[in-house]
Amino acid sequence: MEIIDGKLVSCEMRKELAGKIEELKENFGKTPKLSVVIVGNDPASEIYVRNKSKACEEVGIISETIKLDENTTQEELDSVICGLSSDKSVDGILIQLPLPRHIDAKRALSIIPTEKDVDGFSSDNIGKLTQFDDDALLACTPHGIIELLKRYGVDFCGKHAVVVGRSNIVGKPVALLLLKENCTVTICHSKTQNLSEITKQADILVCAVGQKHLIKEDMVKEGVIAVDAGINRVDGKIYGDMDFDGVSKKAALITPVPGGVGPMTITMLLYNTYFAALRKTNE
Ligand code: NDP
Repeated sequence: MEIIDGKLVSCEMRKELAGKIEELKENFGKTPKLSVVIVGNDPASEIYVRNKSKACEEVGIISETIKLDENTTQEELDSVICGLSSDKSVDGILIQLPLPRHIDAKRALSIIPTEKDVDGFSSDNIGKLTQFDDDALLACTPHGIIELLKRYGVDFCGKHAVVVGRSNIVGKPVALLLLKENCTVTICHSKTQNLSEITKQADILVCAVGQKHLIKEDMVKEGVIAVDAGINRVDGKIYGDMDFDGVSKKAALITPVPGGVGPMTITMLLYNTYFAALRKTNE
């Protein structure tokens, strides 16, 4: 059994990215820029935004945080997004979620131009992913999962991948990416019957549910590649969706929580911002 070290891979990728960003500056005089919009005073969101901005600095991306008042109207937010959309110096736009209740998040996200949608949540980017278009900006956590597995030498072709969870931000896009890598994919959700009968068939099992230790040792087969995207905070501790101690007895490869999938998410955001800037140089 080998434990996938997400922190290490993330660190390696950030070093590689810093080099690529330096090249972009030298060859094209272009420094990638990410604009993050945060509305209100949610403490967790403020921490996430600070972490993103610190990570940008580390690899040489310019980051700008636009902090809007809790009472910002939809029209005011729309106008800020439109301004960033037409600003040629901005390569990536990220709206920190959740937004205050009076704001329609779907509408706000839909205004971000496809080429600046570094979260990869827009219908256009999801549509491109569905068509296996390499030009898509991919949702960060699913992209991070595939990158982790590739860097640990996983051969996807013909493998049965079971994804537990069908959200727009993790489950569905990771299932599509596994399909793109030639896996045979099964998607499970809260209405799935006999979950363990299906998870036991998985060569690659990805779990993105949000329930502590839903997947136990007797629900997986010997040699499984187990990827746990779950982040469940219980009494100040973080747990995954898989019972690591049990599942790791059977797994060939497994991601821990914390330190597995989690560290990859911001790294893939940095990658998307670089990729968005790089594409502009080809225009
Ligand atoms: P959602 O709540 O949006 O989706 C959860 C999914 O799990 C749904 O599709 C739901 O099914 C399914 N589900 C719920 N209960 C069961 C069950 N008993 N059996 C099978 N499926 C079930 O969550 P997210 O996708 O946003 O997040 C999932 C987890 O990943 C969370 O712990 C979250 O914190 C974490 N996460 C981690 C990230 C990272 O950076 N590492 C980034 C994003 C999320 P149905 O559709 O039927 O309701």
